[in-house]
Amino acid sequence: MPIHEAQTIAQIVTAPGKGAVGIIRISGDEALAIGDGLAGGRGMIARAASHTIHYGWVHDREGNRLDEALFMVMHGPRTYTGEDVVEVQCHGGPVAVGEVLREACARGARPAEAGEFSRRAFLNGKIDLSRAEAIMDLVEAKSDGALKLAARQKSGRTEELVDGLRAAILELIAYIQADLDFPEDDIDRLDKAAYRDRAEGLAHDLEDLVRTATRGRLYRDGITVALCGRANVGKSSLLNALTGRNTAIVTNIPGTTRDSVEANIQVDGLALRLIDTAGLRKTDDLVEQIGVDRAKDIVRGADVIAYCLAAPEGLQPVDRAFIEDHRDQVGLLVINQVDLSDMPSPDLPWPAVRTSALAGTGIDDLGRALKEAALAEAPAAENALYLTNARQVSLAETALQDLRHFLEALAMGVSDDLLVIDLQHAWEVLGLITGDTAADDLLDQIFSQFCLGK
Ligand code: GDP
Ligand code: ZN
Repeated sequence: MPIHEAQTIAQIVTAPGKGAVGIIRISGDEALAIGDGLAGGRGMIARAASHTIHYGWVHDREGNRLDEALFMVMHGPRTYTGEDVVEVQCHGGPVAVGEVLREACARGARPAEAGEFSRRAFLNGKIDLSRAEAIMDLVEAKSDGALKLAARQKSGRTEELVDGLRAAILELIAYIQADLDFPEDDIDRLDKAAYRDRAEGLAHDLEDLVRTATRGRLYRDGITVALCGRANVGKSSLLNALTGRNTAIVTNIPGTTRDSVEANIQVDGLALRLIDTAGLRKTDDLVEQIGVDRAKDIVRGADVIAYCLAAPEGLQPVDRAFIEDHRDQVGLLVINQVDLSDMPSPDLPWPAVRTSALAGTGIDDLGRALKEAALAEAPAAENALYLTNARQVSLAETALQDLRHFLEALAMGVSDDLLVIDLQHAWEVLGLITGDTAADDLLDQIFSQFCLGK
């Protein structure tokens, strides 16, 4: 039984710009009537069977033909929003789709707000929150890997896993509660050791989920690589060689005429954002200091530091000093110019890769090594299932804390009625990941992040 919200909504659901076709979605109780009016008001749409497509003209209220279109009729609840939906597919220019939307609104629809279709889909039980967020990620996905990850989540695997955890927590609560409520009765019971074993198992699963979340973020947002090193070791050349070999978008930051300072490449489905930090300092005027500060921030915030050396010059004291200062970060040593001479790998915390930007050797290895260095810190999930956004991760972390707290309390011999509080909290918090216990303002916050028309 769909929840009926006050008004029928309409919005352009195709990306803005000049596509070949544009689609206007109309959803709500009046969708069929409004769609029928748009098609000329002769009942073609109102009487159409569900999930059928009809060719016709879009008419304005004076009966003038605006545009040829295909009308897709879908009766609720078997639709994206769970409500009656009519989608009008017309010519893609902004004028055509805009006019059709205006006409739909003139006939009683209201322009949908950002995320409103998905919000209705959620309210009608069509999607859960983690899936809704995945749809949002799909819209914004930056790389193939991110797309696949979002698609996997959209299919509801997060929901399954979280639901499983919640069911197990609830069962544990039930056992403890039974002990409390029927202390004398002869019922199925678990002893304290069994409580502990179960809670430890759950905590372990949650730990996995939280640990692998980092990897999810890397796939979603990409990896930032700071190219560092002394002048003339070959940083710019390496950046160019990497971009020349990969799918790349190179952006020149104004003021740096000679070098590209930033490029985005893809390595095996992972987006790498390469920044030549020296490139940021190339200007020798007033902006210099800004450049230096920015470079420092970028190095500190980078997922991987690629520290470049020139083999003929070897490792010098300034190189050692830099690496020592940044040893808490993930780093890779790039020994460049090996076409001229080689050098032994120095005894440092970072692994080394050998390259020649000039000859083009070792460049593919460098790309892979950068990816591996970043991912090594973020282990893969057993079944490749990740929480991808900060909200989900912090909820899982909170639930994990609750379980640890429960285990401590159990070890200390805290009474049963206090024990269940932590478990109840963990259960509630996990529900927020999928939206089972979602509060209204949270929904607003999440759905308002959607693009218009989703
Ligand atoms: P950056 O200052 O670290 O960015 O260094 P550049 O990329 O501007 O390179 C400095 C000089 O070294 C240029 O003349 C490059 O052609 C040269 N160079 C860069 N990489 C190599 C390499 O692998 N082998 C050789 N022989 N020369 C290189
Ligand atoms: Zn350079």
